[in-house]
Amino acid sequence: MFESLTQRLSGTIDRLRGRGRLTEENIREATREVRIALLEADVALPVVQALVERIKVRAVGQEVLKSLTPGQALIKVVRDELAAVMGSQASELNLNVPAPAVVLMAGLQGAGKTTTVAKLARHLKEKRKKKVMVVSADVYRPAAIEQLQTLAQQVDVLFFPSDASQKPEAIVKAAIDDARKSYVDVLIVDTAGRTSIDEAMMAEIKALHAAVNPVETLFVVDSMTGQDAAATAKHFGAALPLTGVVLTKTDGDARGGAALSVRTITGKPIKFVGTGEKTDGLDVFHPARAAGRILDMGDVLGLVEQVEQQVDKDKAAKLAEKVAKGKRFDLNDLRDQLEQMQNMGGLSGLMDKLPGMGQIPDHVKNQVTGKEIPRQIAIINSMTKKERRNPTLINGSRRARIARGAGLTPADVNKLMKQYQQMEKMMGKLGRGGMKGMMRGLSG
Ligand code: GDP
Repeated sequence: MFESLTQRLSGTIDRLRGRGRLTEENIREATREVRIALLEADVALPVVQALVERIKVRAVGQEVLKSLTPGQALIKVVRDELAAVMGSQASELNLNVPAPAVVLMAGLQGAGKTTTVAKLARHLKEKRKKKVMVVSADVYRPAAIEQLQTLAQQVDVLFFPSDASQKPEAIVKAAIDDARKSYVDVLIVDTAGRTSIDEAMMAEIKALHAAVNPVETLFVVDSMTGQDAAATAKHFGAALPLTGVVLTKTDGDARGGAALSVRTITGKPIKFVGTGEKTDGLDVFHPARAAGRILDMGDVLGLVEQVEQQVDKDKAAKLAEKVAKGKRFDLNDLRDQLEQMQNMGGLSGLMDKLPGMGQIPDHVKNQVTGKEIPRQIAIINSMTKKERRNPTLINGSRRARIARGAGLTPADVNKLMKQYQQMEKMMGKLGRGGMKGMMRGLSG
């Protein structure tokens, strides 16, 4: 999400970043560029207008002009306002009710509802340690019930069987009874796809809602539809009391118009975003982080969170210290990183979270896939200790030996060395104040 917005804004941000002084003209130009970028990202017009107006008011205020770094202060204003438009704080699911907490999912056909039910079940099970059951009330498409059953098996949560001859209300009531007996914490209810103009279908889901009294009613909507996603959610919300929105397919949505429009247009928070077809492709939505990503400050907090869960913390801390002290990043460090990436299932999800990655074209990012990692590790393992510590030793004949040892070609070794050199350069830059600069940008 947000790639094109980020690219569009990067010039503006770069021009502002180092400025010690800002003129009215600079500010006017920056807000104009922000406005155009938002419109191009398919953000709803009222949202763009309100946002740009707030940025203008704050930009000409004391907070920016009297700041020691007015350029940075203006960037911060833009970031704050982008975050505010998206809701400022992440809102987790409310599960503070007597078990089972019922979560009702609604949305158009094909929006990604069933997939999201499975992702959410996995999230609640793994991250919030809940016992989860899922049930399908889609009595119009037996295939949808089967699809949910398969997914439930995949993520290893309880599945309550239903069949097309039953009434949705009867299915869900029976599921609640069963969930209570089995000490289930959360029951997620999948429903048939429907549009808000289909009155019979809307009456059905309203009755279902009244009968089961869900603590959360989530509207699942495809982010690829841009600001229409917000409009659809709004119509739906007029008929059914939604508690939040799940934006799916954000991995394919380069513009981000839906993410920026939903909150203002519907008054409901985006609670989760779908980031892939697999069941781990669901993220809690953090508005402030998303705003940081739009301005290409990187989702450092998201990165930290992901890293904390899966990475060897001691090693990570040591590397951070090393980088901070300006010590050389060597091939042992690269191997540690590769091993940790391997644990995380490759780089793809991680790359997007790094600052500055918005500008790297997709085809370059795609080169760094999970498949490469074991080969790269094999190459490093084929080096001597000395070579790993002092990579400049690695000349042509050493490269040939290393390649043989790893069962690969010298070209593979060259490729790895090139990647290493790029990493080393980047780490060097971070060590020389880049990281501090970045942190300043994030914190204030
Ligand atoms: P439903 O009709 O609303 O239940 O939709 P499904 O759950 O069957 O999903 C429709 C299609 O969207 C499927 O091919 C899913 O794999 C795909 N899908 C759902 N969520 C995401 C997502 O976050 N990213 C991507 N790339 N595809 C998704």
